[in-house]
Amino acid sequence: MYNEIQKLKKEKDAIILAHFYQSAQVKEAADYVGDSFELAKKAKSSSSGTIVFCGVKFMAESAKLLNPQKTVLLAESTAGCPMADMLKAEDIIRLRAKYPKAAVVLYINSSVEAKAQSDVCCTSSNAAKIIKKLPNKQIIFLPDKNLGSYIARFTDKEIILFDGYCHVHDKITIDDLIKAKQAYPKALVAVHPECRAEIVDAADFCGSTSQIISYAALSNAKEFIIGTEQGVIDVLEKNHSDKKFYPLSDNFICPNMKKTLLEDVRNCLKYNLNSIEIEPSVFDNAAKSLELMMELAK
Ligand code: SF4
Repeated sequence: MYNEIQKLKKEKDAIILAHFYQSAQVKEAADYVGDSFELAKKAKSSSSGTIVFCGVKFMAESAKLLNPQKTVLLAESTAGCPMADMLKAEDIIRLRAKYPKAAVVLYINSSVEAKAQSDVCCTSSNAAKIIKKLPNKQIIFLPDKNLGSYIARFTDKEIILFDGYCHVHDKITIDDLIKAKQAYPKALVAVHPECRAEIVDAADFCGSTSQIISYAALSNAKEFIIGTEQGVIDVLEKNHSDKKFYPLSDNFICPNMKKTLLEDVRNCLKYNLNSIEIEPSVFDNAAKSLELMMELAK
C-alpha cells in the first residue's frame, strides 16, 4: 500500500499532510505530520499541485482557502469536527451586534462559514500572540470556551466566550488525572488547552500539540503523562525511544481523526476523491481571516 501511494503521489504531483492525531499507519504515509498551524503553513508553502489532507474537514478547507488554485482532497470525506459544528455563522453575527467594538478571533477548528464572519483565525499555538497584536480591548473568542479561558490568562483584554468545546478533551476529568498520577508518580503531565481549567491547573505544562512535543523533547524527565489525543504519543515514542509516554486517559481518542485509513489515502489519490470546493460567497472573507492569522503569527 505504501509503495502504491508513493507511485500515485509522483503521478499526481501530490503532497500528503497528516495531523498528529491520525493513526500511526496514516502518519507513516505522510510527507509532513503536524498540528493545524504547521499544516496550514505547509499547505501554503508546498509547490505540489495536489494536497491530500489526512485530518478533518475544517483542516482541508483551510488548505483550500490558502491554496485556491490547488486541488485539495480530504482522504476520508466523513471526517468532521463536532466542535466546529457547534458554531454557526449566525452566532457570530449575534455576538457582533451585542459587542460592536470587539474583534472576532476564531479558533481554526471552525466551519468556512464561521471563518467568513470572523476578523482573524488562530490556532492554540498562536492565539495569545494574535490577540495581543489586535488593537481591540474586547475579544469575542470562539468556539472553544476552554481554550478561550486559557488564553484569557495571558491578556488583560476582555475575552467574551462561546459555549463550544472539544468533546475529546472536555470529557477528561480531574479523577482521570489523579489516577494517571497515581499510576505513574514520576511522570510530568503535559496537557492541551482544550482541556478544562482544572486539568490545566493541575498539569506541569500546557500547550498545543507541537508545544507538548517540544516540551517532552527538551525536558530531562524520562516519563510523561500526555493530556491530548493519543496520536501524539505515536510521534513521541517514535522520536524518543529513551523516554516513556502514557495517555492521561485510555479514552483520549478522537473518533473523527481515526476514521482515515491507509486505503482512503490510496483511493482518494487514485480516483481524485473528495475534492474540497468552497462556496464563492464565503471564500474571500474566510481566506482573509486565515491570511491575517498567518501574517500576525509571524
Ligand atoms: S480532537 Fe476535538 S477539536 Fe480536534 S477534530 Fe477531534 S473533536 Fe475536533
